[in-house]
Amino acid sequence: MRQFQFEYVNDTEFRKELTKIRQWCRAKVVSNVLFTIFTESMDRTLIDGICFAIDEMLPEALYFGCSTNGNIINGKKSECPVGITCTIFEYPSTHLELLQYKLTTKTAVAVAENLIRQVDEKPWVKAVELLTTIRGMSMTAFCENLSRVRAGVSIFGGGAFSSDMDENVACVFSKGYGFMENGVAFALIGGEDFHVKTMYIDGWKPLGREMKVTRAKESILYELDGKPAYDTYYKYLHIKNDESFFQNTLEFPFFYHHNGIDILRAPIASNPDGSLTMTSDIEENVSTRMAYGDPWTILDIVREGGEKIHQFYPEVITIFSCAARRTFWGNEEVSKESMPFQSMAPTSGFYTSSEFLRTGIHVNQHNVTLVVAAMREGEPSIKGDEVFSMTEENMTGKVSMINRLATFTEAATDELEEANRKLSEMAITDGLTRLLNRKEIQHRISRGTKGYVGKAPGSPISGLSLIMLDIDNFKKVNDTYGHKIGDEVLIGLSNVLKNTISSLAPGGFTGRWGGEEFMVMLPDCRADRAGEIAEELRRHFSEIEFSVAGHQTVSLGVTESISGEDADTLCIRVDEALYDAKANGKNQVVVK
Ligand code: GH3
Ligand code: MG
Ligand code: MG
Repeated sequence: MRQFQFEYVNDTEFRKELTKIRQWCRAKVVSNVLFTIFTESMDRTLIDGICFAIDEMLPEALYFGCSTNGNIINGKKSECPVGITCTIFEYPSTHLELLQYKLTTKTAVAVAENLIRQVDEKPWVKAVELLTTIRGMSMTAFCENLSRVRAGVSIFGGGAFSSDMDENVACVFSKGYGFMENGVAFALIGGEDFHVKTMYIDGWKPLGREMKVTRAKESILYELDGKPAYDTYYKYLHIKNDESFFQNTLEFPFFYHHNGIDILRAPIASNPDGSLTMTSDIEENVSTRMAYGDPWTILDIVREGGEKIHQFYPEVITIFSCAARRTFWGNEEVSKESMPFQSMAPTSGFYTSSEFLRTGIHVNQHNVTLVVAAMREGEPSIKGDEVFSMTEENMTGKVSMINRLATFTEAATDELEEANRKLSEMAITDGLTRLLNRKEIQHRISRGTKGYVGKAPGSPISGLSLIMLDIDNFKKVNDTYGHKIGDEVLIGLSNVLKNTISSLAPGGFTGRWGGEEFMVMLPDCRADRAGEIAEELRRHFSEIEFSVAGHQTVSLGVTESISGEDADTLCIRVDEALYDAKANGKNQVVVK
């Protein structure tokens, strides 16, 4: 595998390059030639001219390309609006095919299905590189359907863009399919000697506490933890809703957990209703965290990713880097994160509107990341013991102030979250028995009974049962052996409750009602079953031999809720059942 990369200056110069490539190809064994054209310009005449020159001079060659927010040529952000790479596959076993489809919300599923079929028909396919227009379209359904492409096939690529991020224009084009303003082009590559390794690298780190996306639709994030999403930026970072909003929030995008991985979404605009327009879709009810990015940390993560790519011994590297990263770094600095790859293999790519990558089975739409695709034909040609390293400049080992402050915030947040968790647990737990306290079990019974409100009073019972327990002659235990021994008996009964309920009725709750009285709440449990469970509790407890107090017994009342009744009425009835058990001679279950 070989690659030529150059900037397009004009037709004459381009044809000179094509002549060189043609000569090179004649002298070697070549199986396929693929040109990739990245263009900041949407000028049709220019694009058609480039395609025409390739058609004319290398009629066997394939080409595809898209509009971009800037190009990476020889590992660097190019100054030139058009960057061209020519990849030459040398192994006869390597296959290559291009496809292109019109892509809109309406066609997305059919396009994915077509691709799935094409890949199924071609067992040689190992990689699908895609260039796609997005232009504000929700890509969720498209990605979900692409996840059904034969397992094991790598899928990666980038969203076409324009040189001006605010302009909603883009295009893709390819040999045989022409130019499309709403389209996706796929390059299917594979064969037994072709190898590909892909990864995504971000470098942003989570910061602060987890929040829940309580309202979102497609790329609009309305609410976090029930509050307008913009409030988060103002509250924690004092980022104002002004013309620098995008630039300022880029340092603090959101991570959210999707398909088992962390995906970044940056806000592009803050709306009058307090919602945020994000770079791509974000779904409801997911956990999200703010992330921070600082140059040193990001380069460190890029270096780690680079080391992994190096292990693969690539011959060619393509980078799909988010346009937001170019904004974050600025044109002068952005090459710092792509240059290290050039030290391994010719590296090209472009600044995208989204990055696409299959991780496991799922195809995900990323933002603010670098998706790196490394390719090779044949076994690795290891050149001595050469190791990959970032340039001196990037390797100062310095840890930035923001990194340290973020670590500090992170540690402090963790401590507070842990303390909060303990406090909320303490607020609902009985100190001696570790069961729910009276207030909490009452609250749960009350919530449980409310579930039945609305049905006609007296209609068949719906299956919330209570078991109330009271230790028999417990005063005697205290009087005979002292309070401490009494406490041991209380703990003994609470252990019986915990163990029996978790094995016989895992959805049930156990609480201490007060003194030596306990309450069990069994949702979805009829009275006869609750009676059986109560009998088990009685038997287990009576079998315990306490070292000092010996055998003890407990009386139990059982009842089931009647539709429409409130928690108090239900509790009174279970108390009556317990009273009957005591009156009948204790150490027994009464179902009422
Ligand atoms: P009965 O069989 O009728 O229920 O008789 P009893 O003696 O169990 O009932 P009574 O209500 O007369 O006595 C309950 C006793 O429980 C009184 C009190 O000292 C004791 N008690 C309440 N809370 C605790 C506690 O936290 N620890 C200990 N050791 N004893 C407690
Ligand atoms: Mg009592
Ligand atoms: Mg008692």
